[in-house]
Amino acid sequence: MKRPKPTDLEKIIITKFQYLPDMSDEIIYPIEEWWMDDQKELVEDNLRNWVKKTFKNVQGFWIQKDGYKVLGKVSDHEDLPPDAVLDNNAWDHEHCDLCHETISEHESYQHEGYTDGKDWICIECFDKYIAPRRNRPKGAASS
Ligand SMILES: [Zn+2]
Repeated sequence: MKRPKPTDLEKIIITKFQYLPDMSDEIIYPIEEWWMDDQKELVEDNLRNWVKKTFKNVQGFWIQKDGYKVLGKVSDHEDLPPDAVLDNNAWDHEHCDLCHETISEHESYQHEGYTDGKDWICIECFDKYIAPRRNRPKGAASS
């Protein structure tokens, strides 16, 4: 006799069962499957000094590239290309490194995030991914 194929409901139950958290004491820090390696490294990097800030427009520069105007962020470059045109307000948003949410002065976006001076993370991702890792219990050798 052929085994009947599971119905959709049964499939859901089987899937849920497989993803039940294991009941050990080990703390599982959230991570997203679609993250690239640098995103995983970013949340695990305990040396980064994240500071909560309100995003303000910063100086950008425009260059011509293949017929397009391309915007750069002045503080990301030591030397600007000779044809760069400076624009004091041009860099008007950042993206959360973990979920790509826009952080901007613009009213329809989040205005605050955490930054280490280079990268930005939105408040939600900081609270979800970074904060629990920072508060993790230290080993017996703590001072
Ligand atoms: Zn985010």
